[in-house]
Amino acid sequence: MGHNFDTKSVHVTMEKKSGVPTKVTPIHQTSAFTFKNLEDIENFYTGDRDYLYTRVGNPNTDELGQAVAHLEAAPVGIATSSGLSAIMVGILAVAKAGDHIVASKDLYGGTYALLANELTDLGIEVSFVSFEEDVTSAIKENTVLLYTESITNPLLRVEDLEKVVAIAKQHHLKTMIDNTFATPYLVQPYTLGIDLVVHSATKYFGGHSDITAGVLVGDEDLIAKAKAKTVNLGANLSPFEAWLTVRGIKTLSVRMERHVKNAAKLAEALANHPAVDKVYYPEFVSEQGNGAIVSIDITNKADIATFLDSLDWIKIVATLAGVETSVSYPIATSHRSLPEESLQELGITKGLIRISVGIEDAEDIVSTMTKALDQAKK
Ligand SMILES: *Cc1c(COP(=O)(O)O)cnc(C)c1O
Repeated sequence: MGHNFDTKSVHVTMEKKSGVPTKVTPIHQTSAFTFKNLEDIENFYTGDRDYLYTRVGNPNTDELGQAVAHLEAAPVGIATSSGLSAIMVGILAVAKAGDHIVASKDLYGGTYALLANELTDLGIEVSFVSFEEDVTSAIKENTVLLYTESITNPLLRVEDLEKVVAIAKQHHLKTMIDNTFATPYLVQPYTLGIDLVVHSATKYFGGHSDITAGVLVGDEDLIAKAKAKTVNLGANLSPFEAWLTVRGIKTLSVRMERHVKNAAKLAEALANHPAVDKVYYPEFVSEQGNGAIVSIDITNKADIATFLDSLDWIKIVATLAGVETSVSYPIATSHRSLPEESLQELGITKGLIRISVGIEDAEDIVSTMTKALDQAKK
């Protein structure tokens, strides 16, 4: 199999054991698998046959876990019911009550809520700090994990993953990265020494805004622990959604190529627009490009309500990474759970708009966005 990412991402169909030569893995839409006899039951527990019950394992969810492991160049992976559940089982594979996590303070809002509310309730202590400055000083006796995102949401800070790995090695800590915004098309954190890489597959892997799914990849021992959490907490993904996500992954490369090109054009076009206070767009992520999210702050120079009313075919949503260009309003949606002082400190203002640049014609995206800004200009 070709080792180029473009080839790898197309060839993610799992080797079949059924003997039926289907080109694509069929959807195993079943809650359970049958046994021939007592010996066959025992064979499941000795590892001589696969599959018992879909919460425990299913060919379609296995296929998705393996596909993403393949793209991230990691040994193994598992699929879960959502990005957040993948984050949860990944963290619980490393941390238990009494342990401490150092997390970046500019995380995705849902992740912040999981860490700040739920994990804290389970007795896991979390410090939210600037990963540019304060990681080392936040590490304590009971710290076990450093948690951050390869490209942060919504302000698109690019994490220095080599630095995170170096600090973790020095203090014997595990590392976990949310690679949702970058995708392995741009960044492959496992190859840089990160222990666990997590994705909201709801986003670029699915790519069509029609599934909710998560994937976690890493070494066999950590993934086995995370898999046990997935089974015991019931965080499994449905076979159909796993199948749709694998289908999406086959076009990840071509979609990303267009997404990234269009985003570069839009960021350039908005840089000097008189209704824009500031454009957030990474300077450099990888040779493949800088991602496909562009955030703009229009607090002082435009009216936010007018802007959101003037977007024509561009939809307002609380998600990203579909083939269609869309905008989100973080302060009212994804980052609603952050405390007021964190929002201010992070620059998530009442005029911040996150644009998920789609795969349409770049000129159409630029002209529609420019027109909406012209109309909203104060
Ligand atoms: C959407 C998102 C999540 C959460 O994923 P769900 O699939 O909605 O559970 C986590 N991290 C990032 C960066 C996201 O964009």
